[in-house]
Amino acid sequence: MADSTEHPILTIDPRTHVADFPFIHYQDDTLFIDNASTKTLAQTYGTPLYVYSKNALLANYRAYVESFAPLSDVKICYAVKSNSNLAVLATLAHAGAGFDIVSSGELARVLKAGGQADKVVYSGVGKTKSDIATALNAGVGCFNVEAVSEIELISQVASELGKTAPIALRINPDVDAKTHPYISTGLKDNKFGISHDNALDAYRFASSLPNLDIIGIDCHIGSQLTDTQPFVDALDKVIEMIDELFAQGISLRHVDLGGGLGVRYTDETPASVSEYANALLPKLLDLQEKYGLGLHLEPGRNISANAGVLLTNVDVLKPTEHKNFAIVDASMCELMRPALYGSVMAVIPADLTATTTPQVWDIVGSVCESSDFLAKNRTLALNVGDTLAITGAGAYGFVMASNYNTRPRPAEIMCDDGSHRVVRERESLDDLWRGESV
Ligand SMILES: *Cc1c(COP(=O)(O)O)cnc(C)c1O
Repeated sequence: MADSTEHPILTIDPRTHVADFPFIHYQDDTLFIDNASTKTLAQTYGTPLYVYSKNALLANYRAYVESFAPLSDVKICYAVKSNSNLAVLATLAHAGAGFDIVSSGELARVLKAGGQADKVVYSGVGKTKSDIATALNAGVGCFNVEAVSEIELISQVASELGKTAPIALRINPDVDAKTHPYISTGLKDNKFGISHDNALDAYRFASSLPNLDIIGIDCHIGSQLTDTQPFVDALDKVIEMIDELFAQGISLRHVDLGGGLGVRYTDETPASVSEYANALLPKLLDLQEKYGLGLHLEPGRNISANAGVLLTNVDVLKPTEHKNFAIVDASMCELMRPALYGSVMAVIPADLTATTTPQVWDIVGSVCESSDFLAKNRTLALNVGDTLAITGAGAYGFVMASNYNTRPRPAEIMCDDGSHRVVRERESLDDLWRGESV
């Protein structure tokens, strides 16, 4: 994981870089996403602009379905928080996906997009009474329960509504995901899940309460994991737990291994979905045979990140004695990952017909914060007015955008084999102060 304070000079060859993205390519010298020209998109809709590929989303989702096909009962529950645009959700719902949600707002989005409630798993550490009631009334497939007090609350709300709540307990397997501390969730000092040591008692407690149907066990150890080993370690811990539970007469129907498989942003070499599946399948097939357990997965980033780019135009070039700054029309408001996690994301030109010599630039926004950068020390040939594409921006991009500095959030475009349409309009200033009064 890159240090946010130290950024060595990074020179990315755009053509080599996009070779990893099946739905992004250069045609002649112009960057295309899902067969739509990014130059045309920038001119048509303006910048900054989020652009998604429908076919990349589908291919990324299908990779999970195909890789885990040896199991007879698999639910791929796309993590809505990574990109919750209705068109993204509708695309995946139509392909058969379930959804992992962390709020009642996300549940409402899933239903609005045509997703099925019974394919929804509801994760998250702070579910309120009203969240639980909403989800029970909608008929969600499973509550992933993160605390003992939540077990009690769900039982209580379900009793009041005369319903039975399907639950899985989220276990914290205490494995090191070896990822950025802010996106590591499976260590014992994280706020997530029920500790391995308390899990058995928590299950016993749950089985003593009314209106609960204990159906599963769940873990999610972090995000942007590139190795399969931490997933295998987590599964081993979960299997120990499952053996104990069945031995004590608490039977389950599924194991949920969360999301977290990483993607390539610049030079990472994450395991492919099929490598990930192959690492887990022998143990999962055992669980299927021994206990009839199905599998739930909750991939977010791995489905949405590389299905999207953020297009931004160069507004000002400001060479100084120490550094060259390229000030672009996107910023930490539109794409927070570099400022929040020190993420290193690739910045490539929409048009490769360079008319200047390459120099080393910091790509920054115009927000009044020194953390407002998108990329540091990048070798690029830049002119004012150029359009740049930040790849990997389909996940944790728009969903984290803010209106800080009274900046309207960008439009979002969905491309499908050369056609393109607005799936979220750019915000207007009126949108920004809706609900305010003088
Ligand atoms: C964030 C999250 C995910 C998705 O993580 P990715 O790294 O995007 O795959 C899945 N499950 C839970 C519980 C999460 O919090």
